[in-house]
Amino acid sequence: MRRIIAVAAGVLAVIAAGSWAGPAAAAPPEGTSGSPSHGALAGAFDMPLAGAGYRFYGPVAQRQAHYATLELAALIARAARVLRREVPGPPLVLGDMSAEHGGPLRHHASHQSGRDIDVIFLARDPAGAAVEAARFVRFDGAGRCVSEGCEVRFDVERNWWFVRTLVVSTEPAVQWIFVSEPLAKLLLDWARAQGEHPTILARARRLLKQPGDSAPHDDHFHVRIYCPPRRAAGCVDAKPRWPWVSADGRAAPIGR
Ligand SMILES: [Zn+2]
Repeated sequence: MRRIIAVAAGVLAVIAAGSWAGPAAAAPPEGTSGSPSHGALAGAFDMPLAGAGYRFYGPVAQRQAHYATLELAALIARAARVLRREVPGPPLVLGDMSAEHGGPLRHHASHQSGRDIDVIFLARDPAGAAVEAARFVRFDGAGRCVSEGCEVRFDVERNWWFVRTLVVSTEPAVQWIFVSEPLAKLLLDWARAQGEHPTILARARRLLKQPGDSAPHDDHFHVRIYCPPRRAAGCVDAKPRWPWVSADGRAAPIGR
């Protein structure tokens, strides 16, 4: 567990060093502005459609919804690499991020400012082998697929490794991992039984949330980061701000 945290911190240091041009730059403000549901994105990162341990769901390319802040893209790329290393299997399948310049995106109320992404759950076949997600399918609180003609099961272990990489991220800081409450409970119970770090469990309990005003998210995770340190003027976070997250969007590291 300690190794993961150290690796994550190292990667972030590299990203932080390379992503800020310095105060002398006179270019128009780059980065994310506004809120997730009414925002914009300048200087977006064009996330490759496939990379180490991940690929995008097919329709995302047609919708041109694979743009994000550098910080969100780096976080997801890191999660894919952690999965590949710790619990090897088929790639993580990513859904919509944002449009190149942000703003309204079809099928979504948010995803406007490069700080949101949908991620299809990782699954196993009835024999227990990890399988690549071909589509969005729904799971109940026991991890059973309840979509028609679907026989896969929710892969609690690999989905937890995805969640925990987001939870331990210091830059960017994650605000929400939207998911149905029965699946949140399944993940947390499993992680607790594995002896997961209590601070990681406590933070995950706050981040994993079934939204009250949209679909229950029983067929994908929806991840949202806070306005990162490198942001355009007018970047706005909705409440809440977790006690471990600073006003400029950094999360305090988890104690060992
Ligand atoms: Zn979403």
